[in-house]
Amino acid sequence: MRSEYCGLINRKHLGQTVTVYGWVHRRRDHGGVIFIDLRDREGLLQIVCDPDNAATFATAEKMRNEYVVKVTGKVRERPAGTVNPNLISGEVEVLAAEMEILNPSLTPPFMMDDDTLSENVRLEYRFLDLRRPQMQKNLRLRYKTAMAVRVFLDQHGFIDIETPMLTRSTPEGARDYLVPSRVHPGEFFALPQSPQLFKQLLMIAGFDRYYQIVKCFRDEDLRADRQPEFTQIDVETSFMTQLEIMAIMEEMIVGVFKDVLGVALPQPFPRMSYDEAMSRFGSDKPDLRVALELTELTDAMKNVAFKVFSGPANAAGGRVAGLLVPGGGTALSRGEIDAYTEFVGVYGAKGLAYIKFNEIAEGRDGMQSPIVKNLSDDALHAVVQRTSAKDGDLVFFGAGTAKVVNDALGALRAKIGHEKGFAQAGWQPLWVLDFPMFEWDEATKRWNAMHHPFTAPADGHEDLLDSDPGKARAKAHDMVLNGWEIGGGSVRIHRQDVQSKVFRALNISAEEAEAKFGFLLQALQFGAPPHGGIAFGLDRIVTMMTGAESIRDVIAFPKTQRAQCLLTHAPNTVDDAQLRELHIRLRQPNP
Ligand code: ASP
Repeated sequence: MRSEYCGLINRKHLGQTVTVYGWVHRRRDHGGVIFIDLRDREGLLQIVCDPDNAATFATAEKMRNEYVVKVTGKVRERPAGTVNPNLISGEVEVLAAEMEILNPSLTPPFMMDDDTLSENVRLEYRFLDLRRPQMQKNLRLRYKTAMAVRVFLDQHGFIDIETPMLTRSTPEGARDYLVPSRVHPGEFFALPQSPQLFKQLLMIAGFDRYYQIVKCFRDEDLRADRQPEFTQIDVETSFMTQLEIMAIMEEMIVGVFKDVLGVALPQPFPRMSYDEAMSRFGSDKPDLRVALELTELTDAMKNVAFKVFSGPANAAGGRVAGLLVPGGGTALSRGEIDAYTEFVGVYGAKGLAYIKFNEIAEGRDGMQSPIVKNLSDDALHAVVQRTSAKDGDLVFFGAGTAKVVNDALGALRAKIGHEKGFAQAGWQPLWVLDFPMFEWDEATKRWNAMHHPFTAPADGHEDLLDSDPGKARAKAHDMVLNGWEIGGGSVRIHRQDVQSKVFRALNISAEEAEAKFGFLLQALQFGAPPHGGIAFGLDRIVTMMTGAESIRDVIAFPKTQRAQCLLTHAPNTVDDAQLRELHIRLRQPNP
């Protein structure tokens, strides 16, 4: 066994004989003396191989990068001028007395300290990629975060209960991963999109406080912050109000940041309604580090000659809004404005109108933009007043459906904010509340649940579920940090009659509800306590904490954006015998 990790050897070991194990990080031949940087999970240690010791010297000569070796030797001070202040072991080195190669290595496809690697190569050789110090650090921080969560929840009476992976479709509304049943021909399990229904059943079962750090599966098109399987910190409690649930969860996240990063998140977290977030920031997960805000102009543009504005301003569900960029009139180049126009196009915006305010005192003559001539004095006055534009500023405009305007200007706000110096450093958490119960899906012409169909309506909004579903608000709460939704949850419906109303609003028939969620509906009738909870995305939280570029950098064995594992080559085809056993015939035979 080792006497100490390589990376932890320091001055206090001076004069001691130590035994260390590790990988050859680098071998340097300094004309007669060979230096080995030996690496283990704690860091690097400099080993010196002197030609006086012929046996160790001969072994050292054979060593190559990533060989696994055992070294015994005495710890001594490094010669003056060769101290490395970046390493814990930077003041010392070990003079090798015995050295053994435990296993050679093929030449690795990349150097362990190369920061410019292609992600595909890293994922293909993930076992080597994970040896890199940054990845070791990321996964340790992930572990510490999960531990801090467990300790907090344990101290607050939450118990960890496992829920099944082979189950039925759950209500988050994404596409399921299915697992065919061998025993029941033609039938399938679904992998859970979350333990939502089970955690509610555990409340009905009287456990009172549940948590689980658990894998969830959603077969969605992947974006940078998504994985087909991801990890939630899943929590549910009984007999607590929404504000009480939020308070204890806020305390947990604050505690985790303190324990793991030593960061004090600003408290209490501000609370903002969904409507306010959309109106001011065009997003239900606003990045509050960015000082820019949207300005409402819909009412001011109703009568202008410019149809691009007056059309949406008069249309149901339309919006016209401005985004003031202080100093943008002088600072933003034509090329940058063109690039922003292209950027908002991705969100469905057909263009990006703007006005540069050269000299406001001169009225419309002091404004530079092709659209000015089509806007009335009143409209221009409203723009100046409401955005508080000053000489040298620029206002971008979004006009269209509220969704397109919010998506486009919301994203532009964050982009310009970060690129042009309008964002503070640090951490800006908040709660977003008062979400609508439902959102209208134009394609299918029906209401969809904004969170999931088990979310309780706000007090007094039960009747709106039938009469005006679009107005009904939910007892839902999202925790947002620096523009990322890190957690989302709600108070749940615990009464069967309210649940039926929600299903009716969602156009889910009694038969369909019974077929899909019958077990929960039944359980609700056996003394279900008031309950609610939340789920946090562990991968996202750790990505933010480590400052990693991608969620994949904090998951040991992630999938690519195309939902493949480059290491194991999953998914893969299976042989006919296996398919036959599962009663499956492919539409097209395996290639
Ligand atoms: N099950 C929900 C989700 O995964 C979270 C919750 O409502 O607790 O989004």
